[in-house]
Amino acid sequence: MAAAPHVPRALLRERPLQVDELRQVWSMLDGGAIMVADVRHQLWRSWGLCRRHGWAFAAMEIECRGGRPFATTVLHEDLIARAARAMRRACRLPWPVGRRLLLERGPCLTCDFIEMVQRAGDNPLAHPGAGWLRAMRPMEGLRRTMALVAATEPVWQRRACPLCLDGGGPLCRPHLLDGPTDHPHHLRSLSALEDLAGRIARFGRSMTWRGPTVGPEERAAWVEGLAWTGGWAGAVDLLR
Ligand SMILES: [Zn+2]
Ligand SMILES: [Zn+2]
Repeated sequence: MAAAPHVPRALLRERPLQVDELRQVWSMLDGGAIMVADVRHQLWRSWGLCRRHGWAFAAMEIECRGGRPFATTVLHEDLIARAARAMRRACRLPWPVGRRLLLERGPCLTCDFIEMVQRAGDNPLAHPGAGWLRAMRPMEGLRRTMALVAATEPVWQRRACPLCLDGGGPLCRPHLLDGPTDHPHHLRSLSALEDLAGRIARFGRSMTWRGPTVGPEERAAWVEGLAWTGGWAGAVDLLR
């Protein structure tokens, strides 16, 4: 069997991505499974993929599927719009009740798959071919991903979670769940989430036929959306 690709050090370097994880992420990206209704329902329940696999998905799309985060943006446009609606409702409730609207109610699809095959000892994605391994080579350096992320750093840095990266954006979902319980923090996060929902939608449209031309505020929005669902902290290795 061909050797496994050197999986990205930059992405969660303390525990590099394994071939099984990359194969499962690829199976969602290839053929557009992330757009399928059942998959989307599961992604609503889990607020997207976990931080590790959300970044793996985005990086794989950028590195191996045309250099831009289109599916990542479509997914996070949906999730951030839902988050803004959930926050609007949560802000009208006592916070111990309202925060429950932001809890995940199901596992990350990739984590769930890996756990299932480990239990069953039968992995339908085992033994990747040499062609697939070659196609994964760009994942070794994440060059395109790093370039996109670096190009929009002044914007996402300014709009990051105040508790993760000392930014002025919404508290990320993990910090909304476990951070400050005061109303002004939540109202600020609601307004920042509504702003992000608008920017990420415009960025998504900019990648479609005759879509609008957008600036750095929109081009940074996919990074902010991805980091909002799972938190900014673990992404720092990739972002720097
Ligand atoms: Zn996961
Ligand atoms: Zn945070």
